[in-house]
Amino acid sequence: MQDTQPIHDLTQLDHTRYKSWPFNQDICLTCALCASACPASGIDALDPRSLVRQVGYGLEDALVAERWPWICTMCAKCEHVCPMDIQIADMVRNLRGLRDRQNVPGILQQGLEAALETGNNLRLPQEDFVFIVEDVGEELAEEAGFENFKVALDKDGANLLTTIHNKLVNTHTEDLKHFWKIFHAAGESWTLPTDNWEGTNWGYFTGDDEAMKTMVGRIVANLDKLNITHLLLPE
Ligand code: SF4
Ligand code: SF4
Repeated sequence: MQDTQPIHDLTQLDHTRYKSWPFNQDICLTCALCASACPASGIDALDPRSLVRQVGYGLEDALVAERWPWICTMCAKCEHVCPMDIQIADMVRNLRGLRDRQNVPGILQQGLEAALETGNNLRLPQEDFVFIVEDVGEELAEEAGFENFKVALDKDGANLLTTIHNKLVNTHTEDLKHFWKIFHAAGESWTLPTDNWEGTNWGYFTGDDEAMKTMVGRIVANLDKLNITHLLLPE
């Protein structure tokens, strides 16, 4: 026997909750270009067209509890092809933000709380951070052509401030050298802040606007404090 889908009485749905959302999902043509473009389409039956339609119907409570918003990579390919300019990635981010914080999947919420409390997702103390980056810098200085290399920490008036992803001071320290070699070869005036150096903003990924603003504000504060106008955010 064929499965039947629940029937929703559209007159009973509450559409007023979405008026402040930055898109109009009601203009969807159901053309499915978004589903065709989506790299995650089909994973756990993810279908961006269906997602847009469900939000249009006011069924976002079910979506908030779903895995779909967390399977989506927020790459925005769907938005790029949508003829009606529906902002699907923003919709997904809004859905993520509606989930209870204790039910945010994986390590995202723990990492975010660590970053808000300590300045980085790893809870790495400042002296350990300085030790690691200086140690990697000394390794680089042993390579031919980089004999004078020194990690530039908290350099006032540098041309470029760079944040880093926490894995670069954890499991991927060799990758720091790739950036630094380019800076060195280009003669770039750059610096790394010794606090709030985290470039990974899990407030953005989890739809937590306040946390996102706090993380961004810290980077801006570092730019102001060190009198720097250019930012490299390799995240
Ligand atoms: S591409 Fe846009 S208009 Fe077409 S189904 Fe997707 S959301 Fe709707
Ligand atoms: S933003 Fe999400 S739904 Fe849109 S194409 Fe990317 S993965 Fe698919």
